[in-house]
Amino acid sequence: MSLPSRLLCALYSLTSLWLAWYSVRQYQYGGSAWSVPLFAVASIVPVIAVVRESVLADEHRTIAVLRRQKGRCTTNRDELCEAIACAELNAACCERWWTSRATDHDPTCPHQRRSNAA
Ligand SMILES: [Zn+2]
Repeated sequence: MSLPSRLLCALYSLTSLWLAWYSVRQYQYGGSAWSVPLFAVASIVPVIAVVRESVLADEHRTIAVLRRQKGRCTTNRDELCEAIACAELNAACCERWWTSRATDHDPTCPHQRRSNAA
């Protein structure tokens, strides 16, 4: 994760803590009925932003690895997305594993014996 992303995550975290703290303060001092749940829910939004930021960082890291593996410096986003999809599919198991929600494998799958024994 880059420095600006880390700073952004720190800002999101502080905002989330402040909103949660403000929600508690509203509850303690008898704030209006709508303000307590509103600030409580609002304190969750920055947490979602932190998760989103980490997903983006993972994607950037994957793109950098794929660029190094391919030995090229392409900026074509479609090629990179295709390479990411291929890498994800290659990391997965066989087609039957996908369609059976990981309960069965193709007869030729090297993971079949281990799965059936379990
Ligand atoms: Zn399989």
